[in-house]
Amino acid sequence: MQIFKFCNFLTTNPLIFTTFVKIFKYLIISKHVKVMAFIRFEALKSTFDRKPVVITEPTERRSELYAINVFTHTTMNHFMTKDAYNAVMDAIDHGKKIDRKAADQVASAMKSWAISKGVTHYTHWFQPLTGGTAEKHDAFFEPKGDGTAIDKFDGGQLAQQEPDASSFPNGGIRNTFEARGYTAWDPSSPAFIMGTTLCIPTVFVSYTGEALDNKVPLLRALHSIDDAATEVAKYFDKNVSKVISTLGWEQEYFLIDSSLAASRPDLVMAGRVLLGHEAAKGQQLEDHYFGSIPERVLSYMRDLEIECIKLGVPVKTRHNEVAPNQFELAPLFEEANLAVDHNSLLMDLMRKVASRHHFVVLLHEKPFAGVNGSGKHNNWSLATDTGVNLLSPGKTPKSNLQFLTFFINTIKAVHDYDDLLRASIASANNDHRLGANEAPPAIMSVFIGKHLSSVLDELEHVTDGSLSPEEKTDLKLNIVGKIPEILLDNTDRNRTSPFAFTGNKFEFRAVGSSANCSKPMTVLNMIVSEQLRKFKKEVDSLIEDKGMKKDDAIFNVLRELIKSSKRIRFEGDGYSQEWVVEAEKRGLSNFKTTPEALKVQVSKPVLALYEAHSIMNQVEVEARYEIELEEYIKKIQIEGRILGDIARNHVIPTAIAYQNTLIKNVQGLKDIFGKDYTKYADEQMTLIKEISGHMSSIISNVEKMTEERKKANNIDHADKKATAYCNKVKPYFDKIRYACDKLELLVDDELWPLTKYRELLFTR
Ligand code: ADP
Ligand code: MG
Repeated sequence: MQIFKFCNFLTTNPLIFTTFVKIFKYLIISKHVKVMAFIRFEALKSTFDRKPVVITEPTERRSELYAINVFTHTTMNHFMTKDAYNAVMDAIDHGKKIDRKAADQVASAMKSWAISKGVTHYTHWFQPLTGGTAEKHDAFFEPKGDGTAIDKFDGGQLAQQEPDASSFPNGGIRNTFEARGYTAWDPSSPAFIMGTTLCIPTVFVSYTGEALDNKVPLLRALHSIDDAATEVAKYFDKNVSKVISTLGWEQEYFLIDSSLAASRPDLVMAGRVLLGHEAAKGQQLEDHYFGSIPERVLSYMRDLEIECIKLGVPVKTRHNEVAPNQFELAPLFEEANLAVDHNSLLMDLMRKVASRHHFVVLLHEKPFAGVNGSGKHNNWSLATDTGVNLLSPGKTPKSNLQFLTFFINTIKAVHDYDDLLRASIASANNDHRLGANEAPPAIMSVFIGKHLSSVLDELEHVTDGSLSPEEKTDLKLNIVGKIPEILLDNTDRNRTSPFAFTGNKFEFRAVGSSANCSKPMTVLNMIVSEQLRKFKKEVDSLIEDKGMKKDDAIFNVLRELIKSSKRIRFEGDGYSQEWVVEAEKRGLSNFKTTPEALKVQVSKPVLALYEAHSIMNQVEVEARYEIELEEYIKKIQIEGRILGDIARNHVIPTAIAYQNTLIKNVQGLKDIFGKDYTKYADEQMTLIKEISGHMSSIISNVEKMTEERKKANNIDHADKKATAYCNKVKPYFDKIRYACDKLELLVDDELWPLTKYRELLFTR
């Protein structure tokens, strides 16, 4: 009767009923299974009912939706006075300052536009040195003090803010007495609306003027290359007055069901799995690459694309990548500063949209050992305000000589500053990817393809001094003139090169998927700018001092550049061991780890280079070096802690539980068969021993790792500390993982606490 009453009570309230069922199930299950295995089981179960989230395609075509949430030039023109509009254009095109009166007009126009779209708040949107984005929202609304209120947003609020952002990394730039940091409007990147907030792209600088973000150095580098490239482009066309740097990134990522991801403490906290045996099937059948996109994923992609399009991010391409559950998204290229902003915005949007689809997006460079990691190819070129892509061969020998000039100077820049380029993409995450036989190696080299290699070989033999008319004609007709206008189909594809020429642009492939592109873009534009300046000086001096004709001087300098940059060119397989040997013979660096790779940033010549181009002073460069080392240390430290915890507190107890079952089994067999039991218990006894072996390996290695961590923590200098974390702490990761992964293969699947590779990678 009592039971009947209790059941009756339960059924009257569905919430109480389901809770009771859960507790009951849990109690039953947890008798046999540990909590973590229960979580794995529940996570798997919840994925069985997943349906693609229905996305209703907006009634407008995508072309109509494009940039509707962006304060574009057209919108500006519509909402602004002619004077204010011209002031903004002058700021964008010529870096002119915007006076307060014009700023007030721009602010007022932005406010009207934003409010007409239901916006209530505004924020200065910036990219602190964490690599991500930051925002602090303020309402337009302001009480007047007489019981009424107005919407207020003026030029002052648009131009500058002082967010209390003292917790962002600053590498010691902001001492407490001058701990103020300011955000200042960057008119070259248009304001946009996210939700009900007007976002104004800004730079972030200290009270004393030092850059506290990634954007300031990038803008300065873009300014530097504009000056240098314009001067060189004028050799070929006097009408060129501005050169912009273009960037088209390709974002790779993994999508994992959110319940499955939540069941792995390592994925939650480190963004990658620290242990787990590879699944029987990985990517070897290559059946995922460019395959049909799974429904749930397609629904995510469409949702994300619609968001992107509205924000003016021109996303164009989507496809499956090589590894299971790995995908790629790429936009059309844009001016580099805008492209970097758009990539930062995209990474933010990807996470937000993923949660609507019960996915977690992994931007980590190597979330799963054993299958491909993720990169972010940076396609880069230079374009003139006359509409010419300077890395695109043209129709005439003259335009091809222009192409060769920029092409060869870029190769020379990479040759001279390969270490700095390597440093610009260094991170704890990317270390797992570079040189891992699936991503470009840590050795920087340039691939240009057969056709262009033979052109450069010919040019290497150009006469020293003035060229004879016959030689010039021959060069123009047979060599320079023969470069096909469309090289795209003539460039062989070498996917193993970290820096490849792909027909009308260079593709820097070593950039990591979670990286903020501004770092590699700052370095690449700066080093090419430096090289173009040297080139111009040499050509001018041959013309002025040696009385050479312009073309002769250009051919002469190019010849020397080809010779002196030859060792950076490599056409073979960048993943091969032979290349590692060959590169060493050539004297090229191979910095496999971040602490080694970063050092060059604070070398004397590099500091001087940053200063010479007014990109960063010594304080700014050293602060970044410090921050990057700190980030490296913290990442390895956190991963070490997580791994130690999972190995000792999840894997070991599970192994013991399974071992106990085996022991009971052996004891039972002994009861039945007496002395003969070994005949039947042989395998079990071997297993029991194997399990003990792996457990003791885990315990001793976790202890040793913890000891090394303690030692490393006592080191004062960040570079030495990072090196200790890299060389003393990190090597234990593989040892611990090896034993855990072996146990995964031995222990009863029902008991195993961690969601497995096959579940993470093949559920969608
Ligand atoms: P993939 O490398 O996957 O074969 P593509 O070579 O076709 O793809 O192009 C990849 C990216 O290169 C795209 O984002 C595209 O916008 C970009 N891209 C094309 N031309 C340029 C350019 N002149 N400058 C910068 N990026 C470019
Ligand atoms: Mg590519």
